[in-house]
Amino acid sequence: MTLDTRNRSESLRSMQNKTYNLLVIGGGITGAGIAMDAATRGLSVGLVEMQDFGAGTSSRSTKLIHGGLRYLKQLEFALVREVGQERKILFKNAPHIVIPEKMLLPITKKGSLGKLGTSVGLYVYELLAGVPREERRKMLSPISTLKAEPLLNNDDLQGGGLYYEYRTDDARLTIEVMKTAVAQGADCLNYVKALEFLHTDGKVSGIKAQDLLEGEEFELTAKAVINATGPWVDTLRGKEGNLGKKRLHPTKGIHLVVPYLRLPLRQAVYFDTSDGRMIFAIPRDNITYIGTTDTNYKGALDQPGVTQADVAYILDAVNAMFPSRNLTVEHVESTWSGIRPLIHEEGKSPSELSRKDEIFVSDSGVVSIAGGKLTGFRKMAERAVDRVYKELNGTLSFTKCTTDQLQISGGNMPEGRSAYIKFWRERAKKEGWEEFTLDRLVRYYGSNVTRLMELGTENGKVNWLKGEVRYAIQEEGVTNLSDLMIRRNGRLYFDRGTISLRLESYSTVLARELGWTDEERKRQEASFQEEYEAVVQFG
Ligand code: FAD
Repeated sequence: MTLDTRNRSESLRSMQNKTYNLLVIGGGITGAGIAMDAATRGLSVGLVEMQDFGAGTSSRSTKLIHGGLRYLKQLEFALVREVGQERKILFKNAPHIVIPEKMLLPITKKGSLGKLGTSVGLYVYELLAGVPREERRKMLSPISTLKAEPLLNNDDLQGGGLYYEYRTDDARLTIEVMKTAVAQGADCLNYVKALEFLHTDGKVSGIKAQDLLEGEEFELTAKAVINATGPWVDTLRGKEGNLGKKRLHPTKGIHLVVPYLRLPLRQAVYFDTSDGRMIFAIPRDNITYIGTTDTNYKGALDQPGVTQADVAYILDAVNAMFPSRNLTVEHVESTWSGIRPLIHEEGKSPSELSRKDEIFVSDSGVVSIAGGKLTGFRKMAERAVDRVYKELNGTLSFTKCTTDQLQISGGNMPEGRSAYIKFWRERAKKEGWEEFTLDRLVRYYGSNVTRLMELGTENGKVNWLKGEVRYAIQEEGVTNLSDLMIRRNGRLYFDRGTISLRLESYSTVLARELGWTDEERKRQEASFQEEYEAVVQFG
């Protein structure tokens, strides 16, 4: 089975005719990682996602693949070590979307760590995370810190630390992992909701599901089921009986996007807030994004939204650190907001809750996994699949996890990312293509850009936009305009200022390729327009 939207009905039918070894509920990074892990171990795997792939938390994070410097403060050494190691593996296997990013940590009198504390903290971090020599910390004097970032407030600046985090695109990472799972034999489908669990002799044997595009209900059968539904984990666990003592503690985090020229940082900055937290300001192409918050959350899980208080909190923090910029709500060009599926710990505030993952198993054998980080998804997947093995008492044969050696879709760059980009820039010059278009496409699609080119070629000429849309439909399961503009090409978050120039072209090609009527196209455009407006409406 492929992720080709044009074959969706056949895919649905074929899934109903199988009994999988493993059925995964949830198509965020956790579910995608589990499908990839299990398929490479030789299991037959099905995965259902009720929205678009990655539309839950996995497109709403700070988009860092990081060693978790802040978890050192909470003495979570094992977590820092694991995510640090994972960062290295991901950089090797997905070099197109896991990119080293220089990060400046200004040290201020009122800040949480002094100069010595920062230096020792970064040293321990390097040790635990196995940071390569060329990316080791550099401690800076106040003058060098200001040179590195002239926009910093220098009132009580004591110096700075330069180190490296790795930047990613969470929604793209999720779809790349999903495509890798599919290439390894997994059947993955979006817009299919798990309604109930099915049982045979008291053991879970599948799910009752609904196709949310056509409305049809049907059953999917499997020997084992994993609930990887992030913030929705307890909703599904609740269907199996009492949640017991362990439950989720959802916390909300938001990010603001401003035009790069409003906050033209020379590198990413990780800085203290007045309430003892730390937030990131990360430049990316023509924007800078800033976040995040961490507040208890009890509302709707699918669209958590951004409140005026959220915006004020971030703007206050950013204006305190970069006072000359005077950022106001009018400068906010886009936003996103996500829910962390953390595990509740009595008496702890949102920022104190551990980011460790945990597995819960119901009496009927449903394995649920929650907590964790985007960065640690590969190890989470390994643990979840190992647990399934245990639950099945060895009745299925599995090989060991080998995903540390598995190239992720788009990561085929034997000469490295820089050489790959250079190759396409030179080719762009020769062929008369816009260099920045190719730059963007390589950064988003990695080595799959060759497939985009193939799909966009008509009469010997390449139309890159058509290539991008056809690729999204044929290889990435895109069924509507919002999926394309939000999660596949990230334009709603990272390029909202110029969307109006491109929207019609994207919509025209999508409508033609998917055979939409005029009415359907209008409906799609209106639905995207709602999302377009919602990112700057604050409750
Ligand atoms: P999700 O991505 O939410 O996926 C669960 C999916 O299950 C959803 O897509 C949902 O639609 C689906 N689902 C639910 N119910 C059903 C059903 N009945 N049937 C079918 N499908 C269903 N981590 C990092 O490593 N680095 C960071 O920089 C970072 N920053 C963060 C910043 C913020 C503000 C937040 C909120 C999180 C951040 N994280 C970060 C954490 C990381 O984003 C999450 O741990 C991760 O994305 C969770 O992925 P998931 O797959 O478990 O959940």
